[in-house]
Amino acid sequence: MPGYELFGDEERKHINDVIESGILMRYGFENVRKAWKAKEMEQALCQTLQCNYAQLTSSGTTALTTALAALGVGYGDEVIVPVFTFVASFEAILGLGAIPVFADIDETLTLSPQAVEKAIGPKTKCIMPVHMCGSMAQIDSLLQIASAHSIDLLEDACQSFGASFKGKKAGTIGKIGAFSFDFAKTITCGEGGAIVTNSQALYEKCAAFADHGHDHLGADRGADNHPFMGANFRISELQAAIGLAQIQKIENFIAIQKKNYSILQEIISEIPQVSFRKLPDPDGNSYTFLSWFLPEASLTQKVISLLKEENALAGNFYWYNNNWHYIHHWQHLKHTQSLYRLNPLQEEALQKLKEQTFTNSDTIMSRCISTAIPLSWTEQQAVQKAQTLKSAIQKALQKHS
Ligand SMILES: *Cc1c(COP(=O)(O)O)cnc(C)c1O
Repeated sequence: MPGYELFGDEERKHINDVIESGILMRYGFENVRKAWKAKEMEQALCQTLQCNYAQLTSSGTTALTTALAALGVGYGDEVIVPVFTFVASFEAILGLGAIPVFADIDETLTLSPQAVEKAIGPKTKCIMPVHMCGSMAQIDSLLQIASAHSIDLLEDACQSFGASFKGKKAGTIGKIGAFSFDFAKTITCGEGGAIVTNSQALYEKCAAFADHGHDHLGADRGADNHPFMGANFRISELQAAIGLAQIQKIENFIAIQKKNYSILQEIISEIPQVSFRKLPDPDGNSYTFLSWFLPEASLTQKVISLLKEENALAGNFYWYNNNWHYIHHWQHLKHTQSLYRLNPLQEEALQKLKEQTFTNSDTIMSRCISTAIPLSWTEQQAVQKAQTLKSAIQKALQKHS
């Protein structure tokens, strides 16, 4: 699953180019530098994803923040996000003074279009589907909803680099998209992120915002103007060098994942009680996780504890004591534990969140196991893993009946 598993000569070559160039900064120093790795990676992103513009950032979280800022999201604006995501989603929204409004997921493990319809109100500024665990949301229905209500759609594609929907790449379908290249993602820079869009106006805002609001019109850093305030969310040449090597391997990564995924799926689908995540476009999967369901939550818990006994990573976001991904475990959010002072509208919204329930999502998440698909497995290891899963499920089913 993560790019760090396949790492070596290509990354070293690009890093060496940067060291020889001597310039670690992505902008400026035109007369002395010999490499432009960030610019090259941005071009590679546009080519791979078939979009017009890409702006690298220091992380996926800062990519989301930059994209939201470029859309004009701020004080009191509401952004609809799924209850199953990564904490960065609400961190970016809150950081801008805006309010995360949480909506249920469905068996795609991403935003339910019906739940989004219900969550839309007069203050809704943006819908932010999150393409979790390697596969995409129902982006066509979500786009229809966004356009019917004149709301922007920002794709959080951090976990789904290389996935697609009917031929269009994740991140490029909504108005703007964000990626993460942190250490655990499909391709990695160590730390890094990107915004992609087909809108020149949005791109120019993002490019400036991520560099202290610095004007990037014309050559490189342009006229040295600050048309608006920004922040430093820049990537360095060293990180971009790693990412440039990684992006060139994406087709290979996906092919390996697909092979391992298919082996797992074939073997565990022999158990009739197992069902699989619904994929809006099965051909557009990036195969980083195989997500599957058992008919009941208690049975799922049994399978998880059996797998834990055998030291076989279980991958459930509900029963696990993992407070990164599912609302069920976000006590720090529900109890407004913030170092910086939240605004009154945010305080009020988070107070309400304490009472809110998400039964539909609980029913799905408590029965779901997401098995990460490593790049490094041999075929034999994939088969072995599948058999471990299969026998844990069978044992749990016997005890259960
Ligand atoms: C990883 C991730 C992010 C944040 O990316 P970082 O680069 O770690 O800041 C945002 N959203 C989702 C869904 C992610 O998985």
